Amino acid sequence: GPKGRELLEKQERIDSSAVKYPGDIPIAFDSGKGATVRDVDGNTYIDMFAGIGVLNVGHSNPYVLEAVREQTEKLVHTVDFPTEARLDLIEKLDEIAPAGLRGENRVVFGGPTGSDAVEAAIKLAKYNTGGDGLIAFRGSYHGATSGAMALTANKGFKDDYTPLIPDVVHAKYPSPFIDRHESGDAAAVCPVADGECCESVSCARALKEVQEIIEDPYGGLANPAGIFVEPIQGEGGVIVPPEGFLKGLREIATENDIPLMFDEIQSGLGRSGQWWASEWHGVTPDIMTTAKALGGVGFPLSATIYHEDLDTWDAGGHAGTYRGHTVAMRAGTRAIEYIQEHDLLAHARDLGEHVRGRLRTAGEGNDRLGEVRGRGLFIGAEFVDEDGNPDGDAVEAIQQYCFEHGVLVWTAGRHGNVLRLLPPLVLTRDLADTALDVIVDAIDHVTA
Ligand code: PMP
Repeated sequence: GPKGRELLEKQERIDSSAVKYPGDIPIAFDSGKGATVRDVDGNTYIDMFAGIGVLNVGHSNPYVLEAVREQTEKLVHTVDFPTEARLDLIEKLDEIAPAGLRGENRVVFGGPTGSDAVEAAIKLAKYNTGGDGLIAFRGSYHGATSGAMALTANKGFKDDYTPLIPDVVHAKYPSPFIDRHESGDAAAVCPVADGECCESVSCARALKEVQEIIEDPYGGLANPAGIFVEPIQGEGGVIVPPEGFLKGLREIATENDIPLMFDEIQSGLGRSGQWWASEWHGVTPDIMTTAKALGGVGFPLSATIYHEDLDTWDAGGHAGTYRGHTVAMRAGTRAIEYIQEHDLLAHARDLGEHVRGRLRTAGEGNDRLGEVRGRGLFIGAEFVDEDGNPDGDAVEAIQQYCFEHGVLVWTAGRHGNVLRLLPPLVLTRDLADTALDVIVDAIDHVTA
């Protein structure tokens, strides 16, 4: 609309060139409620991406805002003086921690963004092991600071900023779908003793690569400090690893006495239908990162949660001005309570099945929709062209069609060819169906 156009033009004039507007039509937002947002021209949209998986309890959730208002009136910020707000959130995070960390963890808040939590994890791993190298995975995204960029696989994000941490080696992240499109050595030997991962050749190859990185004295890492991995890759294209991959990594990390680190910044806090995506695999990390939805209704807040055995830092060993942000912390605690009280994990699992079901039905007989995947409300649909190659243009066109018809969707994948849905967990089935009507129309329209 005209007001949206005015704001967009102003943004293009005065904002950083790094700001990336995703649309072809001008939209500027004015207000949000639950799973819907209104733009400045009065149009309403169903929000199927929630600020990249931030607004799990919905826009301006009133239960969260009640506590935010109260806390804002009292005290917004301290640093390392104790506050009930910080201690309550630490206890709440312990309550929902993965089984192997519950009751045996410590939490460090640092800076406000996910990247900060990743930096803290890197420091903690190095500090505890004395190691210098890190193993990460192709297709990964971990953030925009130097350490997080080094862990991130996509060279496009980092090649202009080298040298970064030099000793990061990226291993294969198993993706049976992507492998089908690349020639692979199908004869990879499974390195996991009980053979659990062998059901997937892709998984076996990935684990073999990690093992080789650790063992190869020339091409590998002489002194690894840890393994850093997303339990479901987000930016990489909502890639759910095969059964056995995280278990295999757990065994390798334990055997080599290095920490296994899970980046749950996008996949955590209920997004996948469990508190943490790692729980789908029953694998406990030594260190994990969280952010995005942690600030409740969009306040910037991140945390690194780790096993208490790794709590070796001296006082002041890791710093961060904003680890005293009481308002963000109150919002985080309330948001977790809200998810618990409304059983939104079960809702995310059920609704996610339904959404994937409808997308799969839409893909029947349509070769352009290669795969629909995900867990809970962390959903990806991968598109390919007539020859089976990644088709980013199709997904961009689907996104534009959805924007024009009142539905906000996001993209992912190395080639931008994955339609990504991360709606608020409060999305109702009715609203999901309304959004899906548009998304399915968009798919038909673009791939016809
Ligand atoms: N890790 C993962 C898995 C992410 O998805 C992101 C953000 N998309 C980050 C780290 C970085 O978080 P932030 O942008 O808040 O720094």
